[in-house]
Amino acid sequence: MDTAGTNELILIVEDEKKISDIVRAYLQKEGFRVRTAHTGAEALSSLKEKPDLVILDLMLPDMQGEELCSLIRQGPDVPVIMLTAKSAEEDRVRGFTLGADDYMVKPFSPRELVVRVKARLKRTGRTWKKLRNFNQGRLRIDKDRHEVLRDGSPLHLTLTEFRILTCLADNNGRILSRNQIVNLVQGFDFEGYDRTIDAHVKNLRRKLEKDPRNPEFIQTVYGVGYRFIGTPDAE
Ligand code: CA
Repeated sequence: MDTAGTNELILIVEDEKKISDIVRAYLQKEGFRVRTAHTGAEALSSLKEKPDLVILDLMLPDMQGEELCSLIRQGPDVPVIMLTAKSAEEDRVRGFTLGADDYMVKPFSPRELVVRVKARLKRTGRTWKKLRNFNQGRLRIDKDRHEVLRDGSPLHLTLTEFRILTCLADNNGRILSRNQIVNLVQGFDFEGYDRTIDAHVKNLRRKLEKDPRNPEFIQTVYGVGYRFIGTPDAE
């Protein structure tokens, strides 16, 4: 029953079916893909699917959530939001110490959880996918190395062009307004306003696209903004 698409994958680890069903429904309504695990063992196996975020219940039948969180932390970086009935301040602090990024005490509002999921994803910028390939490897973006390869050759992008490209690619298929692009790039002291985005995109396209008037990667949506249209390669 998972929705298709390129949207973020959320793993819900929760043995209370009633709760995981509600949270799943709320997340799917917002367009997220969702996996559910009812035990720690199931959760560990679902991690192979590289979720973008984990919602983790602290009390599981086969494993303490704290233990599972430490195990998750040994792998690639993924944000964890913990759910718990324990409300004492010391448990809260312990959850963060073990690597939880956020914490919700039951009973919680599913709507608020969705808001926190979105905020967390925005902040972490999808840390699983620092290296991405598109269109059968014809475009390769390596965030760690700040490198973009086009047909195997490095592109000489300015920092701003690199950031615009990665912010569009991170939102693959979604239209971003100029203002949204400025906001997303602003975390890195972006030196501009939304009207200057057009100039940067123009320069970026000249380097990136074989035929800028018939773009393979960055599409102009007239009157709205820009959209990344590359096809991600299977990982
Ligand atoms: Ca539980």
